[in-house]
Amino acid sequence: MEFIVRGAHSTSSPVSAVIERQRALVLGGSSEARLLATRIAADQRLQGVISLAGRTSAPSPHDLPTRIGGFGGVEGLTRYLIEERISHVVDATHPFAARISANARAACAAAVAPLLVLTRPPWVAAPGDRWTEVADNAAAARALGDAPRRVFLAIGRQGVADFRVAPQHDYVLRVIEPPSADDLPPSCEVIFGRGPFALDDEIALMRDRRIEIIVTKNSGGALAYAKIEAARALGLDVVMIARPASGDAPTTHDIDAAMAFLAS
Ligand code: NAP
Repeated sequence: MEFIVRGAHSTSSPVSAVIERQRALVLGGSSEARLLATRIAADQRLQGVISLAGRTSAPSPHDLPTRIGGFGGVEGLTRYLIEERISHVVDATHPFAARISANARAACAAAVAPLLVLTRPPWVAAPGDRWTEVADNAAAARALGDAPRRVFLAIGRQGVADFRVAPQHDYVLRVIEPPSADDLPPSCEVIFGRGPFALDDEIALMRDRRIEIIVTKNSGGALAYAKIEAARALGLDVVMIARPASGDAPTTHDIDAAMAFLAS
């Protein structure tokens, strides 16, 4: 089957009787990307590919053809967009994946391919929440204070080395994949789990490990929210790491809006 790609790399010919289908690249690694992939796969107007960084060794399958691994910076991604005749890009990466998002903005500008960011809204403190909001991991480690505390680290394995500067605390780190032992602070229990987590289980975990303070990224979304509710229920402090700057690409929180963009 031949495809005509509209937009930047249009090869449309008024005389050829071909089916016009958009060719989407979804930058993935989030639950939103997975949902969008399912919607694209079910839409006859669209074809697409989802791209994963390859951080998890056994990612659960997506409903779209999946490519895994970095593109090779802005240059590599630009080349990919052109060679694969990508008509639209949706950056549905995790809100803390700042480098690939910056690369997507630059590559889409270079390849003149339209870009939409699909992301979840950040969490906002509710009554009863005891948040200290900080800019990054280094500030989070400082915000834990000098006195030893029992800390639940919900930041993933990347960045845990930033807490080695605060070795006075006892940490519980929850991860999907094992971290490097060299990255861990001296007193750090590693537990494994992939969300979503139930509120009752989060409360039980915090009680069982006698957690006093939680460090989390402001990832947003419902799937990872139970730990925030658990902290509220138990009156625990939370160090909330703010999102990195997101640039000026058009952004939506709505899968339907992303589908409308892809069909445009
Ligand atoms: P990052 O720092 O923004 O990106 C580092 C490099 O990884 C990029 O320059 C790119 O390599 C490659 N990369 C990242 N996402 C990619 C994708 N979807 N497809 C192909 N290559 C990708 O990213 P990160 O924070 O390490 O996150 C890696 C992946 O994990 C992301 O896809 C993200 O959605 C997911 N994730 C991240 C977090 C988090 O907290 N950061 C949490 C959950 C899931 P090249 O320059 O070679 O293209």
